[in-house]
Amino acid sequence: MKKLGYIFLLLIGVLGAQAQEDIMRKYAADIDQAEMKEILTILSSDALEGRETGERGQKMAAAFIADYFQRLGLQPVVPTEKGMSYYQKFELENSNPGSTYLKVKDASFKNGKEVLYYGSADLSAPISGSSIFVGAGSDEDFASIKSEGKIVVIDGSASFFQQWRELINKGYENGASLVVIIGKDTDEAFGNIVSQYGGYFMESRLGFKKEDPKNKGAFLVGPSTAATLLGSTQEKMNKAVADKKLSKIKGGSVEYRTSRNVEMVGTENVLGFLEGTDKKDEIVIITAHYDHIGKNGEEVNNGADDDGSGTTAVLKMAKAFVKAKADGHGPRRSILFMTVTGEEKGLLGSEYYTKNPIFPLEQTVVDLNIDMVGRTDEAHEDNREFVYLVGSDKLSSELHELSEKANDTFTKLSIDYTYNDENHPDRIYYRSDHWNFAKNNIPVIFYFNGTHDDYHKPTDTVDKIEFDLLQKRAQLVFYTAWVISNRDERLVVDKPTSESVGNH
Ligand SMILES: [Zn+2]
Repeated sequence: MKKLGYIFLLLIGVLGAQAQEDIMRKYAADIDQAEMKEILTILSSDALEGRETGERGQKMAAAFIADYFQRLGLQPVVPTEKGMSYYQKFELENSNPGSTYLKVKDASFKNGKEVLYYGSADLSAPISGSSIFVGAGSDEDFASIKSEGKIVVIDGSASFFQQWRELINKGYENGASLVVIIGKDTDEAFGNIVSQYGGYFMESRLGFKKEDPKNKGAFLVGPSTAATLLGSTQEKMNKAVADKKLSKIKGGSVEYRTSRNVEMVGTENVLGFLEGTDKKDEIVIITAHYDHIGKNGEEVNNGADDDGSGTTAVLKMAKAFVKAKADGHGPRRSILFMTVTGEEKGLLGSEYYTKNPIFPLEQTVVDLNIDMVGRTDEAHEDNREFVYLVGSDKLSSELHELSEKANDTFTKLSIDYTYNDENHPDRIYYRSDHWNFAKNNIPVIFYFNGTHDDYHKPTDTVDKIEFDLLQKRAQLVFYTAWVISNRDERLVVDKPTSESVGNH
């Protein structure tokens, strides 16, 4: 009797699993290529102007996504003064260096021209002070002169790119009012640095509002500029270093200013929520970034693969889960479908969400993040039914096993873990939105097709998308999300990161 009962239960179990698989297959089939193509054609159209964060095209894409969520009947969950919204709005600063220079009596040195300013201090008025030379800035050097309150000139030319940040800190630790670093040992070499990197130092940058910086950063200068700032000559400076008599260089009066031009820019993540049943307080998050890099002049960077493809996958998965729920097969855990903004500017949308979560991060079970899943990279030209997976085994062994099993059972893609290596030079684990979740010890899987010649170019267009692959990869994410949201136990985080990773 006992034995019979066991076999009976086993049989029911097998049949139950089979029935469950059939149900999953049925809804995964709703992630169809035809509608994917319609959605992606809109998202990557010229009309959306490359969906640059804070620009008109990004807002149009947001409106399209919010409208799609609304038509599905997903819940808006972001509280606002006017009730619940699909938009999680926030402000960014768009800033570039304003009037920033060093001046002595007869000469002035402008940022981006003769000198480079590295920092984000915003001084409302110029400041004057006296300069002092501390050689290469060793402890001995600092001990031999009085640097307190001074504009400290340090010779960092011996190891410019390795140590300049260290030297900046050292200057301020020794009481400097401002740090100036000699970047190269000849004016010509320093001039090359300016022409190579000057544009990068001067360009506008989008980011979160900057707090008052702890120090004023540093001016990077060539050797003859340094001599002028010190009222000396290179020969005398070299001699002072050789004789270990830095105090021979008396220094002089220098005026400086650093300032930034700041403009506030509004942007938004778009969130749609599907409530679960008996485990609804636990949240499964599926993300893709819907922003891209805008235009080059009049040429639109359409961003069909990056990341119109992932955004399309999120919308189609939402639709499939909604349909399953309507038929009585809704997920036990809740699912938050979130398309994020600002990824191309430094993972800003996902950073904002994880710092201002709508649902507690402790209750967030997983983030499945999709960024570029509609193409094939060079390495897989002969094996196109593949996908790169990154991160699946980093925090939760269970997640990795379950993801593998979902693929073995349903999609049978060839899974490539090349980029899963944290030390891979491309550092993919840190380069898309899942990272902001992973650093909060939330298990993640990142789905990715690798890069290609059209990456971040106007040629990343919808006609190059391989919709059969986009469909299969989206279905893999769907099956994985289904399993995670319906299993009895929450995913176990058996490998939490010990160190607090904090902000980047
Ligand atoms: Zn991307």
